[in-house]
Amino acid sequence: MSFLKSFFGGKQEEIRTRFAPSPTGLFHIGGARTALFNFLFAKVNGGKFILRIEDTDLERSRPEYEKDILESIKWLGLNWDEFYRQSERLNLYNGYLNKLIDDGKAFYCFHSKEFLDKEYKEQVAAKKNPAHICEFRKLPRKDAERRLNKAVSNSGQENAIIRFKIPFDEEICFDDLIRGKVCFNSNTLGGDFSLAKAASAGNFLPLYNFAVVVDDYLMKISHVIRGEEHISNTPKQILIQKNLDLPMPEYAHLPLILAPDRSKLSKRHGATSVMDYREMGYLPETLINFLALLGWNAGANEEFFSLKGLIKKFDLTKVQKSGAVFNIEKLDWLNGHYIRNLSLDELVKRINPFLERDGLRAGDDIEYLKKIIALEQPRLKKLGEMGERTVYFFKIPSYKPELLIWRDMLFKDAIASLKISRESLLKINELDFNRENLESSLLKEAERAKNKDKGRLLWPLRTALTGLEASPGPFEIMEILGKKRTIERIEAALKKLNAI
Ligand code: GLU
Repeated sequence: MSFLKSFFGGKQEEIRTRFAPSPTGLFHIGGARTALFNFLFAKVNGGKFILRIEDTDLERSRPEYEKDILESIKWLGLNWDEFYRQSERLNLYNGYLNKLIDDGKAFYCFHSKEFLDKEYKEQVAAKKNPAHICEFRKLPRKDAERRLNKAVSNSGQENAIIRFKIPFDEEICFDDLIRGKVCFNSNTLGGDFSLAKAASAGNFLPLYNFAVVVDDYLMKISHVIRGEEHISNTPKQILIQKNLDLPMPEYAHLPLILAPDRSKLSKRHGATSVMDYREMGYLPETLINFLALLGWNAGANEEFFSLKGLIKKFDLTKVQKSGAVFNIEKLDWLNGHYIRNLSLDELVKRINPFLERDGLRAGDDIEYLKKIIALEQPRLKKLGEMGERTVYFFKIPSYKPELLIWRDMLFKDAIASLKISRESLLKINELDFNRENLESSLLKEAERAKNKDKGRLLWPLRTALTGLEASPGPFEIMEILGKKRTIERIEAALKKLNAI
């Protein structure tokens, strides 16, 4: 296990990964994939998976987003071993900050946002790499502190930022477990980057790169697994580690998730939040399977993976570098697979809340509900579609009378057809109201009426039952509906055609 060397000096220790979301937005597919890969890598190695809420950006962090993240992760079944919230650890960072200032590696910057924006724009206009090489890096510490204290005693606040003094022209490299050796020149990192910003009088709030380094160290994180969008933060974090004399964890940057046209994944392509997927009726099993394949080459033509199976098989070194394409058809197909694999009882349990949401209740008649769900199980793609597909079992459907007309039939033909069906069905005893009997007696009717085209009898009937253009066949439906509901629906159709 050579990858353990840099952290533990070759000594085998516990693998500890962390998922570190900022609660500044809803929890999306990208975050879920990062959480899953961290979870799997920890579990495959018998290690610990840590959840750390990075909420030091007090203006943008919201409790409702944290709630959304936690609920989503729980729903996916990625149980964490330890939980931390950065905002509850603020006193832990000062010591490290002071050390950097004491060692002359960090300094106070008093530039206004306007100044920084202007400097940035000018550099871009002059086609230079934007970089804030701050003049305040030269200001003696006691002068900076005097300025700070003065501001505190005057109005309470100076817009100060503590920045890291970026070294010039230094090569910073790390071995990424997915990408191999990655190097950055310190001149390309945007200059003196921020570590902390003034919060209340005299207090500094740690910012992203700095808080991550301190926490990864204190939490003994062995492997930092995160999205590719963080790759340019890594050299900054390594610089902080080096200057604080902290060990460097291993890094693995996961490939971007792309839309099928290889553009950036956006809402348009289905990049909705994990909770939205739940609302639509995707199963957590499906999402786990789908997310695992977003960048990980499972090999050997295997397609179906449960969380348990993944804990045995997942291999971080088989994650690809290139973007992983998000394919919603594949997601639907997988969901259909997992829906078909559920036992009927389990499916009923999972679908019920969706039906209730749509105002569809079968009362105490659980057997009726089971039959309805069993009918749809082979073709259902999302639990949320169940209501619209089966509404006719719960109430007399509403539809336009024209829908009852098959091909060149006239209204009067549809009326006659429905009447024939009704008469024929009325003759069948409630107890014999099963698919075979229904089929044989109705097909006999069709023959008797010399109807070569069975649609003339069956289309108006099926439509009367369902009000839908497409549905399962009328015999299966009538068997479930039973005699009373079937006749009710035919009469409602006749009424629509002004025949009663
Ligand atoms: N808090 C960061 C984010 O939500 C992730 C930090 C990290 O993984 O290093 O993007």
